[in-house]
Amino acid sequence: MAEETIFSKIIRREINADIVYQDDLVTAFRDINPQAPTHVLIVPNKLIPTINDVTKEDEPALGRLITVAAKIAAEEGIAEDGYRLIINCNRDGGQEVYHIHMHLIGGRPLGRMLASSSQI
Ligand code: 5GP
Repeated sequence: MAEETIFSKIIRREINADIVYQDDLVTAFRDINPQAPTHVLIVPNKLIPTINDVTKEDEPALGRLITVAAKIAAEEGIAEDGYRLIINCNRDGGQEVYHIHMHLIGGRPLGRMLASSSQI
């Protein structure tokens, strides 16, 4: 059984977060340390630690992450200019919280996908 993170408590509304959307499958809330004017985390309500742990039965929730991202982007007024969706996985991916979450980041030009210092 995977260990719960703070995101489970946010989903259950046991601790405070700026929740912008919630339904039976996913919850979306503003990142506590935003990297751009819009920085929302969209999270499956079910605890799935990493993308490596997904199964076919998770497909409805994982698909919902995308449709909710598009809805929030439109509401935030960033859909036309554009934005970036990111899911980090494990150490090399830079994952810090082990409950799958999609970052929706936008509201300014984001530049190249990876830092220019990155090497193949
Ligand atoms: P990761 O690096 O795992 O992809 O991203 C984790 C994100 O969760 C970070 O951007 C971090 O700022 C955010 N975060 C961590 N703890 C909290 C919290 O308690 N509340 C909110 N709203 N965001 C959090």
